Amino acid sequence: MKPNLKGHRTITVKKSHEHRYKKGYPLLQTSFVTLPRKYREGELFHLVSKTGEFIGKGYIGSQNRGMGWILSHKEAESIDGTFFMKKIATALNKRIPFFSLEGTTAFRIFNGEGDGVGGLTIDLLNDYLLIQWYSKGIYCYKDFVIDSLNALIQPKGIYEKKRFDRDGGYIADENFVLGTPGQFPMTVQENHVHIEVDLNDGPMIGYFLDQRDVRKTLMDSFSKGKEVLNTFSYTGVFSVFAALGGAKTTTSVDLAKRSKSMTENQFLANGLSPDHHRIIVDDVFHFLREENNQNSSYDVVILDPPSFSRSKDGTFSAKKDYVKLLQEALKVTRDQGLIIASTNCGTFSMKTFEGFIKKAFQKEGLQDHILHRFSLPKDFPVHKEYPEGNYLKVIFVETRK
Ligand code: SAH
Repeated sequence: MKPNLKGHRTITVKKSHEHRYKKGYPLLQTSFVTLPRKYREGELFHLVSKTGEFIGKGYIGSQNRGMGWILSHKEAESIDGTFFMKKIATALNKRIPFFSLEGTTAFRIFNGEGDGVGGLTIDLLNDYLLIQWYSKGIYCYKDFVIDSLNALIQPKGIYEKKRFDRDGGYIADENFVLGTPGQFPMTVQENHVHIEVDLNDGPMIGYFLDQRDVRKTLMDSFSKGKEVLNTFSYTGVFSVFAALGGAKTTTSVDLAKRSKSMTENQFLANGLSPDHHRIIVDDVFHFLREENNQNSSYDVVILDPPSFSRSKDGTFSAKKDYVKLLQEALKVTRDQGLIIASTNCGTFSMKTFEGFIKKAFQKEGLQDHILHRFSLPKDFPVHKEYPEGNYLKVIFVETRK
């Protein structure tokens, strides 16, 4: 589907939200504007005040966050190939330091609204690119994005993930777009650690770029000689960093059967024998109960649950259940031990998350001592009028009796 670049719809902002949009708020929120009766994905619109004054222009693209994104506040600026080329070139310029990093070959080169185009992210993994499209609307601009990337960085190949099924789900489809197909798993580097990724295997690639700083801190400062429990471990990347940081033992726990072989491969990619590490396929809540019954305990416990999940034991919602998860984790954490609590849930703030931690510690009769807080790293810039885009929250907290 190609966008119609000549025409545009007019969308009027509700009076009470005019100020917000004039300041630069980038999201077309259904409840902040009066939507036309008819509109199409990818269609361009002009946002105007009640008196008809131009505020901005953007595209329609429905995703779980809203109905589209504002792209420009200049009436004369066209949304065309040149526009996308400029945005991507600016984003690449901001990443110049990343291109010259030693021992890190994977980072985000375009982070949605933080780089001026909501609904679109682009990651570089060695010489391959991974584009993620978050609405049918933005997917209409695919040719502009691909042409810009080919002109600006000539990747060896491009892969994509379409994340615009109902409720923002992933559409299972061919991920390869163009260039030379990659050989997967492919090894990328992060701070000299090897990580196996597969760009062509369903919705996820085996690795989350946004935790880079957290992993480095874990490896450099909190692993040596420690017994580390990594829950919701996925492919075990935190465990590998802990092991390389000198952990005495690592235990990785994930419900997904595939996580075991994937974790073994991550260890092998770093010359570590998986036989020296525990990799367990189990429900985390069940595992924590069992460990507690057996009086097992750890020095470092990593919690990185999905925002929402379903298992045999019921559902988990980060917003509703994180306190309970922390309480269970505290029962198996030694005195003066460390909890690394992480969430990618965008519907609550760092302050609320800190509140969850305080509450869990209080309920368990423990003192909390917060050592570090992390949110998104530098290659994931956040739009200053849309702080909600900074979904990542990670807190390192020490337990004290
Ligand atoms: N910490 C990982 C990413 C976690 S993604 C990393 O840094 O790479 C979330 C993981 O939680 C998924 O692998 C999923 O299989 C797992 N998961 C979801 N619910 C679970 C549960 N109840 N018990 C164990 N694992 C669960």
